[in-house]
Amino acid sequence: MPNTIFAILAHPDDAEFLCAGTLIRLKREHGWDVHIASMTPGDCGSVEHGPAEISRIRRAEGTHAAALIGASYHCVEERDLLVVYGEPALEKVTRLIRKVQPNVLITHSPTDYMVDHEQTSLIVRAAAFGAPIPNFFADRNIGATLDHIPHLYYCDPIEGKDPLGRDVPPGFCIDIGGVIDVKAEMLARHASQRDWLMKHHGMDQYIQAMRDWGSHRGKQCAVKFAEGFRQHLGHSYPQDNILGKLLGELKVR
Ligand SMILES: [Zn+2]
Repeated sequence: MPNTIFAILAHPDDAEFLCAGTLIRLKREHGWDVHIASMTPGDCGSVEHGPAEISRIRRAEGTHAAALIGASYHCVEERDLLVVYGEPALEKVTRLIRKVQPNVLITHSPTDYMVDHEQTSLIVRAAAFGAPIPNFFADRNIGATLDHIPHLYYCDPIEGKDPLGRDVPPGFCIDIGGVIDVKAEMLARHASQRDWLMKHHGMDQYIQAMRDWGSHRGKQCAVKFAEGFRQHLGHSYPQDNILGKLLGELKVR
């Protein structure tokens, strides 16, 4: 089995904002398989299309963006603003994790600007714990158990702050300066979102916001662009920093 990283985030473009640089580097430098999932198809992300139409468009954009780096895109088919920790979502995500069999999982920060992100974080954390347990959903045929809990990492919350505006510093950063243009190209493939903001703001705010945040984290650790992460280090989760070891762990000054 090849080494596999799986980013499970709330909405179709979250990976391209938060962790795509790290995914690209693992793929290119270490030959890892890359999978990206969104909990929803982004069904509220439009003012001109209804939910079914924008979902169809955004699933295709997610697939197209992932394909740029040879990654696979999956949609868990929950709905925007309705991602909730509970049995249905937990079963679907555990099933997906068992199908992909990742060594490493990436998800949202436990505290973030919107509830979909926070609930996704909780669901992925619990599914990572349950994926190796044979009796978890034992009667539902949800796939082969993992050998052990995968490494689990949290992305920066959006704008690096929690809902009360408090700074959430990363545990470490990964240098993405060499792949920032590929990351931007992936993000640009979410054309429905980019065009919407372009019309609304009169500038390419979508790509610029991603670059600005990467540059902000980069400055904090003396590189041009970086992505910040925290590792889940609770009891029984892997404790060694495999991402940091493979890609170089930068400390925030
Ligand atoms: Zn999101």
